[in-house]
Amino acid sequence: MRFDIISVLPGLLESPFAHSILQRAQKKGISEIVVHNLRDYATNKQKSVDDYPYGGGSGMVMTIPPFAACIEKLQSEREYDEIIFMSPDGETLNQGIANQLSIKKNIIILCGHYKGIDQRIRDIYVTREISIGDYVLSGGELPAAVLVDAVVRLIPGVLSDETSALSDSFQDDLLDAPVYTRPADWNGHKVPDILLGGNTPEIEKWRHEQALERTRARRPDLLKRGE
Ligand code: SAH
Repeated sequence: MRFDIISVLPGLLESPFAHSILQRAQKKGISEIVVHNLRDYATNKQKSVDDYPYGGGSGMVMTIPPFAACIEKLQSEREYDEIIFMSPDGETLNQGIANQLSIKKNIIILCGHYKGIDQRIRDIYVTREISIGDYVLSGGELPAAVLVDAVVRLIPGVLSDETSALSDSFQDDLLDAPVYTRPADWNGHKVPDILLGGNTPEIEKWRHEQALERTRARRPDLLKRGE
């Protein structure tokens, strides 16, 4: 699966993809993440990518030409399943959306800045708009990194123990059960006995009950959704 991320601050995206699971996915050739510097596509002398908003008001607006040039160059090289704009007014990212996207082949992600991007870029090119939550960040880079991480870890072969993604929170409208590791006794705080007994069916049952209990207490809305 290939991601092309278009950004005016590509440096912001270096670290998130250079570690851990995302780095491994790229090394294994399961995913390819290419970051494009929007400024390389600016045609004017100042290499500017933003301009004053029509109608006045505060904040700069990102202009059409650099985005159009970059998107059209990419589209001439391969077909894209989605062109996603990270935006606080998009649909809120959840595990279902991450699952849907994890079976796609090529995705472009646009990162906005300042006041946002010219509406016509959204009208002409964008196929999907995704928010990572009801708050406003300064740019689309961190949201893009969040989206790519959520999607890539679901691609088969990325996690070493594939079943671990399936038991994660939200995967089946349930939060995950609590987890423990050694030592079994930390200053009198003990690991539940059931986990030490080695009875796998009983442990699975316990984990399911714990997941249900935690979901009921913290996110009853998830249980209603699954009914
Ligand atoms: N004026 C816009 C916010 C612009 S913030 C508004 O009120 O909707 C600048 C850029 O940061 C946005 O264009 C978007 O790409 C990114 N961004 C900020 N918050 C985000 C969020 N919650 N989810 C996804 N992208 C976000």
